[in-house]
Amino acid sequence: MEDTLLITRRPHGSPTPPHARAALLEDPGFGKVFTDHMVTIRWTEGQGWHDAEVRAREPFQLDPAAAVLHYAQEIFEGLKAYRTRGNDVVLFRPDANARRFVESAARMAMPQIPPAMFLGAIEALVRTDADWIPTSEGSSLYLRPFMIATEAFLGVRPAHEYIFCVIACPVGAYFKGGAKPVTVWVSDAYTRAAPGGTGAAKCGGNYAASLVAQAEAIKNGCDQVVFLDAAQHRYVEELGGMNVFFVFDDGTLVTPPLGGTILPGVTRDSILTLARDAGLTVEERLYSFEEWQADAASGRLREAFACGTAAVLAAIGEIRHAGGAFKIGGGVEGPMTTKLRDQLTGIQRCTAPDPYGWVHKVDMEG
Ligand SMILES: *Cc1c(COP(=O)(O)O)cnc(C)c1O
Repeated sequence: MEDTLLITRRPHGSPTPPHARAALLEDPGFGKVFTDHMVTIRWTEGQGWHDAEVRAREPFQLDPAAAVLHYAQEIFEGLKAYRTRGNDVVLFRPDANARRFVESAARMAMPQIPPAMFLGAIEALVRTDADWIPTSEGSSLYLRPFMIATEAFLGVRPAHEYIFCVIACPVGAYFKGGAKPVTVWVSDAYTRAAPGGTGAAKCGGNYAASLVAQAEAIKNGCDQVVFLDAAQHRYVEELGGMNVFFVFDDGTLVTPPLGGTILPGVTRDSILTLARDAGLTVEERLYSFEEWQADAASGRLREAFACGTAAVLAAIGEIRHAGGAFKIGGGVEGPMTTKLRDQLTGIQRCTAPDPYGWVHKVDMEG
């Protein structure tokens, strides 16, 4: 099988006029403004990947029996393109997203798209819709590659037809109110991922299962939900869509270990690397909700933050649960959270050196 495909260009017949685009880019919010184009690539049993196109973003024609609509064979990714001060367009560690997409596909019994093809599709869309990359502070072009099972068949088995697609949206800051610390809800009724389940795969089904817990969080005045492990309901795992870190008074950084029930975040991995290279003690270890409460009470725990591509780093100021509530660091963002965010966003936006080769410059001539 070829690792890359020639992508046919079928530009939009009536793209958004520049003034309308400029108005949309002023305050795009998150995930509600979309660019003019999308990339689609089809996969069928026998033919493999074919029909790669950049074309106008438009609704899919899907048979009502399409497998994704019934058995949720769906995976996705999320990464950002930035316009640098030097007027380059860069992606952050897209190879890591490509690899994770392959792993998610394997877990969901879906065909694996070669990383070079995945990256080629993203670059084609970024080139086509480059004028949609916002330039204001904290903004970027969020890219959403995903794959769905399109075969019309109600039998239960891996589908024989799929569409891989990339769409893009200009985004501002993820949380309303900018870097204000978030309040999180620790759910004792719901869990996100069980051992042997799909917790490490980036699939829509995980999110569908988390929504009722997220709704419970909102009802309790919280921004996000924190999930504990499914087996013992004891250890902190992650948020609905973000990994979590704890910062102690001796400078130690703790994050729950990967092991099948936690999504291996690119942001998580990048923070671990930055922290280790800064000489901090970093522990990937089990951390119980009991410890969390005790460490917050004793003051040993100085900071906690959530991290992911969309929000980058978000300080956790307050924790609520069925039995009460407590604060960390007086409910304000701590210096380690700020420092790690500045370091990471500096690399992502090319305002700081990139010793790790994480930044991928998009060839705009392509
Ligand atoms: C995407 C995601 C994350 C964060 O991953 P990044 O690669 O850092 O964006 C964390 N947890 C879940 C459940 C996710 O889906």
